[in-house]
Amino acid sequence: MPDALPPTDLADRLRRGERRALAQAITLVESTRADHRVLADDLLASLLPDTGRAVRLGITGVPGVGKSTFIEAFGLHLIAQGLKVAVLAIDPTSQRTGGSILGDKTRMELLSRDPRAFIRPSPAGGTLGGVARRTREAMLLVEAAGFDVVIVETVGVGQSETAVADMVDLFLLLLPPAGGDELQGIKKGIVELADMIVVNKADGELATAARHAEAEYRHALSLLRPVNPRWRVPVLSCSALTGKGIDAVWERIGEYRRLLGTEGSDDIARRRAEQARAWMWSEIEESLIDAFKAEPAVRGELPALERATATAAITPGAAAKRLLTLFRQG
Ligand code: GDP
Repeated sequence: MPDALPPTDLADRLRRGERRALAQAITLVESTRADHRVLADDLLASLLPDTGRAVRLGITGVPGVGKSTFIEAFGLHLIAQGLKVAVLAIDPTSQRTGGSILGDKTRMELLSRDPRAFIRPSPAGGTLGGVARRTREAMLLVEAAGFDVVIVETVGVGQSETAVADMVDLFLLLLPPAGGDELQGIKKGIVELADMIVVNKADGELATAARHAEAEYRHALSLLRPVNPRWRVPVLSCSALTGKGIDAVWERIGEYRRLLGTEGSDDIARRRAEQARAWMWSEIEESLIDAFKAEPAVRGELPALERATATAAITPGAAAKRLLTLFRQG
């Protein structure tokens, strides 16, 4: 385990692409122990110059839409082109229920057996913010280990889509081959986060439905104002099962990178810069909250003030002010 490993050695082994070192490094950044955190921060700092070279993709979609089947087919397609692919997951259900939507089944079997792929399930426990932070750090680690494409996968429930969209270059929404009422059911907020929409299961009996869905989604999108005037969000269809259309998805991603990642008006670099700044602020917020909760005077008064707030014996504003005063005095 991490204890026995001097981080410099770990960093060297990781840079050489040693899988064990990568797995150990991710375990280190996922650890909540304070001494591990110090080592993790040192490790990340020393690897920082080796990060940032991967294509960062986010993928979301409701359970059953075919995310793991898609990532397997897509990942194998990339590997066939000589690329190395890492898949990280953010699964908010794993901390709420102990079970997990993403992790409970055997997923991406072929891909997981390939030495050019690295698959890491969602870190368990903690807040979404904590899980997102560890996934961001894992992303830096896989980049330093030489992976060309990092896929961050999340389920289309809860708030995790925003967290993923905030850490990737391109956010892909996978949709089922259904339209009409079901189209209404897709959370609008998620559609607005998407840089690309792919209708899956365009095969067999579902092929016609998929074609209709594609047209409907395209129409719905044409009514939205584009977030980036240089990129009209494309709607594609594919079959993760047969592999049809998977190559076109990768081609479109290449087009996105050429169009938005060009020198001079580098939207992708700007997006990453904004993400880094937002990440810094969320680190500050988390650290402040932790320090606040750990302050003895605050801890002493917190339960009583929470109760008093709940029974309306004190206003939330006044309770917060009292606690913040105690924190500042501490
Ligand atoms: P996830 O929950 O989003 O990861 O979905 P899965 O990848 O586990 O797929 C859910 C079900 O849909 C499985 O039974 C898959 O075999 C099936 N499925 C996935 N992709 C396709 C596809 O392109 N076509 C068809 N017909 N079925 C698919």
